[in-house]
Amino acid sequence: MKNVTDSSYDSLQGNALLPLVVPRAQHSISRAHISPNALKVLYRLKEAGYQAFLVGGAVRDLLLGREPKDFDVATNAHPEQVRELFRNCRLIGRRFHLAHVRFGMEIVEVATFRAAHTPADDDNSVEELGHRVLDERGRILRDNLYGTIEEDVWRRDFTANALYYNIQDFSVWDYVGGVQDAAGRVLRLIGDPATRYREDPVRMLRAVRFAAKLDFELHPDTAKPIPELARMLDGVPAARLFDEVNKLFLAGDGSKAFELLEHYQLLEHLLPETATALANDSDDSGARLVKLGLQGTDERVRADKSVTPAFLFAVLLWPAIRRRVERNHPGGLGDIQVLQQVCDAVTAKQQTRVAVPRRFTAPLRDLIGLQPRFERRVGRRALRLLEHPRFRAGYDFMLLRAQAGEIDPEIAAWWTRLQTLSQPERETLVDSMDGEARPPGTRRRRRRRGRRPPAL
Ligand code: ATP
Ligand code: MG
Repeated sequence: MKNVTDSSYDSLQGNALLPLVVPRAQHSISRAHISPNALKVLYRLKEAGYQAFLVGGAVRDLLLGREPKDFDVATNAHPEQVRELFRNCRLIGRRFHLAHVRFGMEIVEVATFRAAHTPADDDNSVEELGHRVLDERGRILRDNLYGTIEEDVWRRDFTANALYYNIQDFSVWDYVGGVQDAAGRVLRLIGDPATRYREDPVRMLRAVRFAAKLDFELHPDTAKPIPELARMLDGVPAARLFDEVNKLFLAGDGSKAFELLEHYQLLEHLLPETATALANDSDDSGARLVKLGLQGTDERVRADKSVTPAFLFAVLLWPAIRRRVERNHPGGLGDIQVLQQVCDAVTAKQQTRVAVPRRFTAPLRDLIGLQPRFERRVGRRALRLLEHPRFRAGYDFMLLRAQAGEIDPEIAAWWTRLQTLSQPERETLVDSMDGEARPPGTRRRRRRRGRRPPAL
């Protein structure tokens, strides 16, 4: 492979002259690792006379020997032309159309090369206005939304994300030094970093996400403007940030991503309440809980177990909730109502930044509200907690608090053991607690077993 230096790429920028073409014999991407459905799409486009490339994360991941999450295709065929080739195809997007070719559960996304100077808007589609000239009947006279591969490459974010695998001869086309950067595990923005972050501040979060996921270092020029521009995240729509937060924390590398967000001073703009609480944490238990919670989530993702934003946000917001309770309601951590009230206030404030949907904030509130009940192991109420629909999430969260040193580990061990017992053994255990947990002389008269169903 030709050895291309940084400066020769710099001189290419904006001109997009010729790509470095890495022939099949000189790279490691094998068709055996490309989804058969994506191959079908690529071949059919090629047979119809179009250019067809695999692009983006899939090429990057294959080069790195990782399994791609999904397969995106780029082509010079226009969306309507793509649709004509595939029965199972739907066009999406209000402005810039993308074709989704569906094969059962798998969707192969086919994007037409995008023209230069079509700035990405917040959903990474482009503003159509000014790029299309229509006649009085609304027919397209001239369309400069779509372009060539030479134009398409410059709108992409990082060099390693801007590689094109050509189905024609299985070569990799590289206009920006992405092959070299991927080999060196360097994440580098294409173009002037500050300008690219201003165009779309979410690229700062993407930088952190890819660095965490791929174990790449940010190039110093790519890293430098982030702390200064971090405040630009404040202007990003909260719904888009919710998507990004999920990608950051629910994809298997959340604890590393969290450290990077702190390092680059992005955390205070994404999760301001959390950042403030951690900065003022007197005993570090908040930081420990967040770390353990994110590590646990990463382990679950890697073991293919389910994860939910409800638990994630409970972990992320807990230090802020605890701090506010301790400041405004001393002793209130044991009070379900106080806890839920504060939980509501902290969640509402967070939502102005990151729009967590109600279907996640409701269970979050429940599991926070269960926490005081774990510390009351008195009588049959303890057994009723086992039947609570959110017991499992509440219990897992309580374990985290114990691990973080917030509550007595003996309490956690007790609940763990309780679950392993038979029903009669459980009853014996909680009855014995009844006596132990009560101050002497206040022993409650024992209700006879089975006389009436437990009130809930
Ligand atoms: P993942 O493995 O997480 O899917 P990906 O690189 O495929 O990573 P996507 O978000 O799926 O990331 O985007 C696909 C491609 O589109 C990227 O590789 C990049 O080239 C381009 N892209 C996506 N979002 C942006 C953005 N905000 N700015 C510039 N280019 C982007
Ligand atoms: Mg992708």
